[in-house]
Amino acid sequence: MRNNEAQQENAPGGPFLNEGLITAALWRAAQACSSGAAISGWLARVEQAARDITGARLVLVTAADDDQTIITSSADLPPDESALLAGSLMQVLRIRDLSSATGRTERDRLFMLENANAARKGEDILLRELVPQLRLPPSAALIAPLRATDGQIVGLILTQGIETHRVLGVKRMQALQVLAFQTTLSIEGRHLRQRSDTFCKRMEAIRYAVDHLAAPLELEAILESMVEAAEQVFGADGASIYLGQREGVRCAASRGISKAYLQRAEQLGSESFWDTMRSTKGPIYFADLSTEAFDASHREMARQEGIRSMVLVPLIWEDTIFGGFAIYHRSVRPYSYDEMELAQTFTEHAAVAVHRARIYKAAQRTRSNLEAVINSMSDGLLVYDRQGVIILANPRLYDMFGLDKSAKLEHSHIRDFARLAQTKGASTSATAVYIEPDSEPLARQHSIVELKHPEIRYLEVVNQPVMNRSNDLIGRAIFHHDITRERDSQRVKDEFLSMLSHELRTPLTSIKGYAQILLRRPVSRPESDVRALQAIDVQTDKMLRLIEDLLTVSRTEKGRIPLQLERMDPVGLVQSVVDHLGGISPRHEVVLEITGSIPRVSADSRRLRDVLINLVENAIKYSPDGGRVITQIANGSGEVTFSVTDFGIGIPESSWSRVFDEFYQLDSSNSRRFGGVGLGLHICKLIVEAHGGRIWVRSVPGEGSVFSFALPACAD
Ligand code: ADP
Repeated sequence: MRNNEAQQENAPGGPFLNEGLITAALWRAAQACSSGAAISGWLARVEQAARDITGARLVLVTAADDDQTIITSSADLPPDESALLAGSLMQVLRIRDLSSATGRTERDRLFMLENANAARKGEDILLRELVPQLRLPPSAALIAPLRATDGQIVGLILTQGIETHRVLGVKRMQALQVLAFQTTLSIEGRHLRQRSDTFCKRMEAIRYAVDHLAAPLELEAILESMVEAAEQVFGADGASIYLGQREGVRCAASRGISKAYLQRAEQLGSESFWDTMRSTKGPIYFADLSTEAFDASHREMARQEGIRSMVLVPLIWEDTIFGGFAIYHRSVRPYSYDEMELAQTFTEHAAVAVHRARIYKAAQRTRSNLEAVINSMSDGLLVYDRQGVIILANPRLYDMFGLDKSAKLEHSHIRDFARLAQTKGASTSATAVYIEPDSEPLARQHSIVELKHPEIRYLEVVNQPVMNRSNDLIGRAIFHHDITRERDSQRVKDEFLSMLSHELRTPLTSIKGYAQILLRRPVSRPESDVRALQAIDVQTDKMLRLIEDLLTVSRTEKGRIPLQLERMDPVGLVQSVVDHLGGISPRHEVVLEITGSIPRVSADSRRLRDVLINLVENAIKYSPDGGRVITQIANGSGEVTFSVTDFGIGIPESSWSRVFDEFYQLDSSNSRRFGGVGLGLHICKLIVEAHGGRIWVRSVPGEGSVFSFALPACAD
């Protein structure tokens, strides 16, 4: 029997073995496999080798490419049929692998079928059940699976129409196994090469993204680099970037695509593909736009533009799609899974860059708006940080201090600025407003800074802390408001008042003098003449006091009144005022109440008298129906309290503090029922505060008022 077998193996494909022919076939196949030629080329060589080894009538070789594309080679079948058969057989082998536990251990096993469509004993049962569906020609078949190192089936060699395997002989079967093994190695090598190619491409794309997209902050530059990348990295014929704006989708950059197409794409984007991208959140790929597209109008516009393939990758930031990156090809361009991933990786990098540029742009816009506001401010602004380093000085500030831009206030210290203000004539005490950042960190400082150079200028300066959102001090801002004009007009007003008062006082003093001379003359006059002379005396007194008030206010600088202080007994003074005003109104009764023993005070008695007279006169004036006016003097703790109570018209609470303001009157109506100019209480306040005391009022409208003031008591 062995002799018989050996004889049968002598011919190729026939019963006789020709070892030289088989070796040559294997060698040629090996050469082709390692040549790096296109896969279809070397699969044809493998097919030829299989034919030489087995002498089969039908040979089919198939291998899956790295992206699972199945490539077949068979000279015996039309391409469609061979692709169909190859796909089905691969499927059959894979199903068999899944359902057979022995799959792994039978790595190099050949599957033999005596008659591909008939059940025979001893054949692989599973395969026998699966293969008949393929309707192979009814003759013996041999299937050599191409099994990769990881056990996966990556292809197969089918030989059909041979003698039975018993006739084929062991050596030929071994040779077929070697061929299968050799082919598998080549496929794996090819896959590895493809993977490393893809990896390199991805690295290249990332390097491109890092090189071109990481550095620029300008949106336009980034978008330009992106459309350029479409050419460089993906070999595209055109590219465009669409960004979602409030008014819809807008093309922000493009290359190689007509305006008309982009406009229609914007419309299409606003209408449909935005939603599609939103639902897929991944790239959308149209392999051939002549058969597949978003819709008919998309297909038509692609046709007009001459675009055949297109990939659209969403630009995503924090899970929100804010744009799309479109890559166009003018011919059908298959994209592998890896390439799609590549496009996505690149676009992810681009999305970060675009988002960053948008933030930068928005920040720049805010900054320039802020700068415009600060630069056009009519106040001078100086901002310094916690270290006292000036970080901002607006043009108005330079102007106020007569500095040109070369003075470079920014980066200098606030201490230096205080010194600079002094060289411009500001007093040391006024420049205390330029405080060191950490001294009294939260206090608001206020000062009037008077500059003498380059011209006389009065600045109202307010220095206030600047806090961040978490309420930490981050620096201080100083506002300089020019009050030179107000000061000037105030000075003119004061000079006028002073001049007017002098001019009025002289004739009034004469009138009063003459009236008194006439009254004192020992001549008998009719009663009516005497009353007239007395009225002249009283009214000129009133006018003189009013003039005195006006002069006091106009002379009073910074609210302080010059005083001639002496230690004095306040009781005697109050008593004399009560005596003096007691008889002035027949309908009022002015009384004095003294509580406790009253200590002495250090006061200007003339000024203190003015205060008391003013309060008692007001009490009489604003109690038009008459009544009691109670003047009290009491010993408080460390101070002497004076108060004047009336039961007159009263003052609403909202006006309690305002009655002490300059020229403030409750009844500002034209009727001016009570007369006066609203200076009395203001002067009282100036005098009391100049003594280091305080003044206040409590009142109930319609019931009366209590005006009080307190002066520090002298320590005995
Ligand atoms: P004048 O009395 O000249 O108007 P004052 O400064 O003395 O000015 O008073 C300011 C305003 O305060 C008055 O116009 C008046 O409306 C109110 N006022 C002052 N004293 C009294 C008082 N005893 N009772 C009610 N209102 C008063």
